[in-house]
Amino acid sequence: MRFASLGSGSKGNATLLETEQSCILIDCGFSIKETERRMARLGRTPSDLTAILVTHEHSDHIKGVLPLARKYKMPVYCSYGTGEHGQLRLSHHWRHLELGVSIDIGGISVMPVAVPHDAREPCQFVFSYQKKTFGLLTDLGSITPVVREHYRCCDALLLECNHDVTMLANGPYPYSLKQRVGGDWGHLNNQQAASLLEDAEVARLQHVVIAHLSEKNNTPALARMAIEPMLVNSDALLSADQEAGFDWLDIA
Ligand SMILES: [Zn+2]
Ligand SMILES: [Zn+2]
Repeated sequence: MRFASLGSGSKGNATLLETEQSCILIDCGFSIKETERRMARLGRTPSDLTAILVTHEHSDHIKGVLPLARKYKMPVYCSYGTGEHGQLRLSHHWRHLELGVSIDIGGISVMPVAVPHDAREPCQFVFSYQKKTFGLLTDLGSITPVVREHYRCCDALLLECNHDVTMLANGPYPYSLKQRVGGDWGHLNNQQAASLLEDAEVARLQHVVIAHLSEKNNTPALARMAIEPMLVNSDALLSADQEAGFDWLDIA
């Protein structure tokens, strides 16, 4: 199993996960053209995709989903609430994901985990394939016991480090947006992200990717400073870029 990012941050998110049998796109916050361009960078085209999974209906995650599904004729899996966005649930592309119930997509076991975020019915995903587990976790305001339990035993983790608390407080956002981003239904700060690793099996982690980093309220260095002390192997740590995403990472 391996994964890569087309880009990560408030201007658009999309992650690829593939095995020998299938290739899944998780979220698509880019236009069709942009998605094609970014996938080509990773040696793939949308026609390689088995399915698209959607975490929630914020435009940095859903913008390109239905256009891409229509053009390349593939299923879109998401919760009922997320499917309420636009024409998604009414389209024949929609497949229902029930949060907390794992399903098989192209040989990969997919567990949609409910998260606290200001969307209709948001989730994040834990994927398992041949005894290896990849956890994708962004867009949540706090770490619930359910989240902690599901992300405890991952071999690779893509983890939101959205903001630094001090930078957000002193930054350019209006008060209401600061409240939203920093609230329990907003986004994870660096310390919250680090706290997820407190009772995780960190020795198992081959890759930890810092993701959904705010360009205004955080820096890769600050996020790294929070996460690195939690890890056994600091070489495992890297950060995802809004423009470049990151290249394929193998989970051995
Ligand atoms: Zn987002
Ligand atoms: Zn969001």
